[in-house]
Amino acid sequence: MRFLGSLHIAVAILLLSIGVGLYADLKSEQMHGQSLRIQTGLERMVRLNQSLTSVMATAVIEKNSLRAASYNSLHTKLEATMQEVQALTQHMTLAGEILALRDEQRALRAQESQVFVHIRDEQWDAAYKVLLGGDYVMALKIYEINSESAVGALTIELSNTARRQDLLRQATLMLRLAAAALLLWTGWRYSRRLQAELAEQVRLRGEVTAANEALEEKVRLRTAELQAANSQLETLSTTDGLTGLANRRRFDKYWAEEWQRALRQATPLAVIMMDVDHFKTYNDHYGHQQGDECLRRVGEVLRATVRRAGELAARYGGEEFVVVMPGASLAQAQETAESILAAIRAEQMPHASSPVASVVTISLGVAAGTPGPAGDRARMLNEADVALYDAKHQGRNRVVPSLPGLTQPNVTNAISNTVTLL
Ligand code: GH3
Ligand code: MG
Ligand code: MG
Repeated sequence: MRFLGSLHIAVAILLLSIGVGLYADLKSEQMHGQSLRIQTGLERMVRLNQSLTSVMATAVIEKNSLRAASYNSLHTKLEATMQEVQALTQHMTLAGEILALRDEQRALRAQESQVFVHIRDEQWDAAYKVLLGGDYVMALKIYEINSESAVGALTIELSNTARRQDLLRQATLMLRLAAAALLLWTGWRYSRRLQAELAEQVRLRGEVTAANEALEEKVRLRTAELQAANSQLETLSTTDGLTGLANRRRFDKYWAEEWQRALRQATPLAVIMMDVDHFKTYNDHYGHQQGDECLRRVGEVLRATVRRAGELAARYGGEEFVVVMPGASLAQAQETAESILAAIRAEQMPHASSPVASVVTISLGVAAGTPGPAGDRARMLNEADVALYDAKHQGRNRVVPSLPGLTQPNVTNAISNTVTLL
C-alpha cells in the first residue's frame, strides 16, 4: 500500500510539473506575442506622430491648407493605436509610460490645434512660429525620447518576464526530477520487497520439500516395517508351530498350484502321505510332551530328507505328514518314501508300547500320475490316503504305492471298490 501511495504522489508531481510547464510555455508564448504587438503599436504611434507633424508642416510651408486634409484620419488612426497599446499594457508596469506618452501626444495635438486656427485664418507666419517654436519642437523631441524609453521599458519587462518563465521552467524541471527520483525509489523499494517475498517463497518451498522428504522417508520405513511384519505374518500363518514345517493351509495352496502347473505342462506329480504308527499309545506311554518332541523329530527328518527344488514337506494334521513332489514318477516318490521310512527308523526313538517295533515307525502311502482334464487333485490325495491305510492294514512300518493310473476316474473307482472289499 505504501508503494501505491508513493506511486500516486510521483504521478501527481509529474502531472503537476507537466501542467506548470505547459502554463509557463503558454504564458511565454502569450507574452512574446503581446510584446510584439506593443512594440509594433509604439513604432506606429511614433510614425503617425511624425506623419501628423509632417502633414502640418507641409501645409504651413506651402501655405496650402488642403495639404493638411489627411490630418484627421491620421489622428484617428493614432488614437486607435494608442488605445490598443493602452489596452495591451494595462496590467504591465509599462502602463505608466504609455499614459505619459498619451498625455504628451495630447499636448502635441493641443499645440497643433493652435496651428490649425492660424491656418484657418491664413496667418501663415503665426502658424509657422508655433510649428518651429521651441515648445512644439521640444514636445516633439520629448515624445520621441519617451517613446524610445517605452520600448526600452518593454524590453526590460519582457526580459523580467522571461526570467520568471525560466524560473518556472526550472521549478518544473525540479518537480520532474523529484517525481523521477520518487518513482525510482518506489521501484527500488518494490523490487526489494519482491526479492524478499521471493526468498521467503524459496525458503518455504525448501521447508515443504524437506518435510515431504522426511514424510516420504517415514512412509518408506513404515512400509518396509509393514512388509517385514506381513512377510513374518505370512510365514507364521503358513508354518506349523510345533515342527516348523509348512502347515496344512500352506500345503493346500501349494498342492492346488502344483496340480494346475502339472496339468498345464502335462508333467507328472507325486504325493506321499504318512502317519506315525501307534502314536496314541506313544502318548499314553511317554506323555504328551514327549509325543510333541517325537513329532518335532519326525519334522526334522522330513526337512533333511525332502530337499529337492519344488518339493514340499508339510504337517497334514495331528501325527500325519505329507510330501509333494512335482515332476516325480511313482517309482521316484516311492524311493523318497522308503528313505523317509529308513531315516525315521534310524532315529531310534524308543516306542516301548508299539506292537510293530521297539522304535517309532511310520506308514507311508504314495500316489503319482500326470493330471488329466478329467482328474482332480483331491482324488490323488485320496489315492495316497488309501495307500497309507493299506500300509496300516498290511502291518504298518512300510511304504505302499497306489496302483498306477489311479488318477483316471474309472481306475479310482476300481481301487475304491478293492479297498472297500479289504
Ligand atoms: P495308527 O497306527 O493306526 O495311526 O494308530 P494311532 O494311535 O497313531 O492313531 P490314532 O489316530 O488313534 O491316534 C493318533 C494320536 O495322535 C491321537 C492324538 O492324541 C495324537 N496326537 C495328535 N496330534 C498330536 C500332537 O500334536 N501332539 C501329541 N503329543 N499327540 C498328538
Ligand atoms: Mg493318524
Ligand atoms: Mg497314527
